[in-house]
Amino acid sequence: MSTREEILFELGITPRWKLRDVAEIESSEETSSSEDLHKGAISSNASGDWSELKTTIESCDRCKLCESRKKVVVGVGDPAANWLFIGEGPGAEEDERGEPFVGRAGQLLDNMLLAMRLNRRENVYIANVVKCRPPGNRNPEPDEVDACSSFLDQQIDLIAPQVIVLLGKVAAHRVIGGDGTLASYRGVEHRYKNISTVVTYHPAYLLRNQLDKAKAWKDLCFAMDLMDKKIEQRK
Ligand code: SF4
Repeated sequence: MSTREEILFELGITPRWKLRDVAEIESSEETSSSEDLHKGAISSNASGDWSELKTTIESCDRCKLCESRKKVVVGVGDPAANWLFIGEGPGAEEDERGEPFVGRAGQLLDNMLLAMRLNRRENVYIANVVKCRPPGNRNPEPDEVDACSSFLDQQIDLIAPQVIVLLGKVAAHRVIGGDGTLASYRGVEHRYKNISTVVTYHPAYLLRNQLDKAKAWKDLCFAMDLMDKKIEQRK
């Protein structure tokens, strides 16, 4: 397994990056309290009938994406997670396997999570705006987003996360609203259902634009700071 320094290097984070640099993270490894910050220090009250929702989504034919999908991609992770990451929709590999973010973009997302001391099976849930693959990896169309909207809302209600991270413009438009550029959403705390919400780049974009990885890390550090504040408030 990669060391954290290797992961941060892979993310394109340079020594100039000071908000939460490698030295800080490595020193935090020595304090168990820091580890707790992002691994379940806030208990969630997620409850409700996940299995019923999953069954409903998996048999859904509310929009035309049902005609070409192979598998419905409901989501993956801890249903009582403090962290919720939301992308736009399944790609080809996700459509084959029925799990979000499993290709190269998924590997990058996993590395981003690891750098945050998280992993997709523990205290993180990963979902998409639409649960079925848009053909040709196009963006989901507005009627498809609308048709799938209640499923994402139900997932958010059941998970009751402390912080939501929106990956890319499609997720930002769906959750926060508006039609601005990604840059216009970054760097500030948004609220969705009174949940702290942060916007960053989609990992697939970062694969094509390596120089923006450091900006993505800045966004994730901002999200971690919001989580830290929530934990402090509850002490
Ligand atoms: S994308 Fe959503 S609304 Fe459309 S068929 Fe799939 S689950 Fe149903």
